[in-house]
Amino acid sequence: MTERSIFLLPGDGIGPEIMSEVKALISHMNEKDGANFKTDEGLVGGSAYDAHGQAISDGDMEKALAADAVLFGAVGGPKWDDVPYDVRPEAGLLRLRKDMALFANLRPAICYPALSNSSSLRPEVVEGLDILIVRELTGGVYFGEPKTITDLGNGQKRAIDTQVYETYEIERIAGVAFEMARARGNKVCSMEKRNVMKSGVLWNDVVTATHKAKYDDVELSHMLADAGGMQLVRWPKQFDVIVTDNLFGDMLSDVAAMLTGSLGMLPSASLGAPDEKTGARKALYEPVHGSAPDIAGKGIANPIAMFASFAMCLRYSFNMIAESERLEKAIATVLDSGVRTGDIMSDGCTQITTTQMGEAIRKAYSA
Ligand code: NAD
Repeated sequence: MTERSIFLLPGDGIGPEIMSEVKALISHMNEKDGANFKTDEGLVGGSAYDAHGQAISDGDMEKALAADAVLFGAVGGPKWDDVPYDVRPEAGLLRLRKDMALFANLRPAICYPALSNSSSLRPEVVEGLDILIVRELTGGVYFGEPKTITDLGNGQKRAIDTQVYETYEIERIAGVAFEMARARGNKVCSMEKRNVMKSGVLWNDVVTATHKAKYDDVELSHMLADAGGMQLVRWPKQFDVIVTDNLFGDMLSDVAAMLTGSLGMLPSASLGAPDEKTGARKALYEPVHGSAPDIAGKGIANPIAMFASFAMCLRYSFNMIAESERLEKAIATVLDSGVRTGDIMSDGCTQITTTQMGEAIRKAYSA
């Protein structure tokens, strides 16, 4: 059977704690299911800075580029607050995204039935929620030029950011969204601001044309991004896949995150273009949360976002759909049984540690 290579970058803070729970599952899958994962491990963020003076070394960057998938924990912490800007912990993640050309960010918002009371919205609004936000990650206003602050010399300054998109960038992110929708509820809602932005007009045109040319079996709708934000908190279950640009995606995915209750539950994937020969995409999987320095080393971090990120890795990088669903079901089963880490603790449940949660999920996976 072909070898499946995963490059592990646990990072800083709680990153190594949650990663070690997933590593134990990977070993288990190799031993019991013959999954044939081959893992290697590197340093990223503050730990890489301490070792190499860089947020990721060239050697580890090469390994990330060569692997079938990269599994990333979290980076950062107060220890590195004063390191030079271009080697700060986040620079490691930004370099990975740039060098691997990861233009599509996938953030599912799934509300496990057992946690429907943890959301700030009413349980009936979020129970059973399963939506996917596909955000363009490498273009738009975060990267467009000019990007300047100019002193106007009269006590005033002028700041400029440039929102810029080209056809190919919109086509390829729309393609990802339509393909994802085909494997889910077959619906895509595209969000932009065509009423006030030229980039919104082009976005709308290109998504519509891409749909007509290649994906007209998928149901497509369009919504202005501000209305989309409102609809996300009014009745989020109306959506299946939402596709949007870098700026709106940044905000809308955080809104969607809160629907599910806790940061410790949210996975994400970032994908590149398919390889011309093999069709495989470069891919990095990571929890949405950061390195949580306030609880690092205490053994109480919630490892579920890390497990759920690995479930996305199984699905999108290795096409191991059954195993991915089995892992997602194992998470739901464990939550149904009433055990919780501190961040998702509620009345009547039993609080457990990171390791105990990891063990419970692996046990449910094997059952
Ligand atoms: P954070 O996500 O690390 O933590 C926010 C709060 O949520 C904290 O109270 C934390 O204890 C809690 N939390 C987060 N994940 C949890 C988990 N798995 N289990 C239990 N509780 C959890 O965000 P922050 O405090 O703003 O940032 C801390 C550091 O992480 C900073 O250095 C920041 O730059 C970095 N950061 C990194 C990433 C990344 O690596 N992708 C993302 C966001 C922030």
